[in-house]
Amino acid sequence: MDPNILIVDDDTAIRESMREFIEMSGYQTYMAASAEDALEILKETGVEVVITDILLPGMNGLELTDRIKKAYDVDVIVMTGYSGDYSYEEAISKGASDFVFKPVKFEELLLRLKRVLRERRLTNERTVMLDRLKKLSITDGLTKLYNSRHFYNQLKGEIDRSNRYGHPLSLLLLDIDKFKVYNDSYGHLEGDKVLVRLGQTVKSCLRKMDSAYRYGGEEFTVILPETVGKEAETVAHRIRSAVQGDALEVGAGDTITITISVGVTEYAPPEDIATFIQRADQAMYISKDKGRNRVSTLYAPDNEAPLGSEVSAG
Ligand code: GH3
Ligand code: MG
Ligand code: MG
Repeated sequence: MDPNILIVDDDTAIRESMREFIEMSGYQTYMAASAEDALEILKETGVEVVITDILLPGMNGLELTDRIKKAYDVDVIVMTGYSGDYSYEEAISKGASDFVFKPVKFEELLLRLKRVLRERRLTNERTVMLDRLKKLSITDGLTKLYNSRHFYNQLKGEIDRSNRYGHPLSLLLLDIDKFKVYNDSYGHLEGDKVLVRLGQTVKSCLRKMDSAYRYGGEEFTVILPETVGKEAETVAHRIRSAVQGDALEVGAGDTITITISVGVTEYAPPEDIATFIQRADQAMYISKDKGRNRVSTLYAPDNEAPLGSEVSAG
């Protein structure tokens, strides 16, 4: 789409001749005879660059520039006469991207406009790229769940919040049962597909505020903010049962199911992150020890809830 340019000048002749030139150069234009009109137009349109005279009836062009820069992602080029009372420094300090003298030489204005638009494009591309990189840096390449680095960061944040506000916080750690056997039987690539599928299943069982992570090879974690152990257990059961109910195709029409062992624990303030994660891990190993495909919950020693309350499959 052609960039939208808003021309602000109270002199109709100047405004019209600028409009003609700028439209001929391939841009769409809007017109305003005052700063007040310009602000109205900005509210309703996707203007990218404003070219404004400094001397206007009512609010002047510098004040307009200031208002625009505070409220919009819009570039401003200001125009002023040689004899004007306003300086380049003033315009730039209000956030203007460039400055042209009147009477405006159209060719020069066009060059400046093109430069401003080019810089806008580069800035946008940089922002998109940075967003993409940021997303990559917290995503597990295989499952597209969050990675373990993000897990530690998020969990630290949730622990801080829990300590500050006294809200509950729970954690699940789940591990595929006998996954080595699966890999040995169907190959590592098929194993990878199972990991992707498991990631989707886990996510599909979560509530809005919960988040899932690939913690290690075939181990996943789920952070459940604002959640007590008992509620986390319910989520864990939902995941365990969904995984068991998901038929995976292996070869010609054959299907197989995998199971997971889950450990559940609730944060016990003010314990540190390692202690919290370790307890989830211990709970998961209780599930393994008791025969796999189950959910076990382990509370901190001084918590009222029973120690190592094991919840069997079902
Ligand atoms: P259990 O947890 O029930 O005790 O048995 P297990 O066989 O799952 O556990 P173990 O720790 O012995 O082995 C984990 C296996 O997970 C080893 C490896 O083959 C597999 N694994 C880990 N990461 C990946 C991965 O990224 N892709 C695939 N395909 N397999 C993986
Ligand atoms: Mg493991
Ligand atoms: Mg395993």
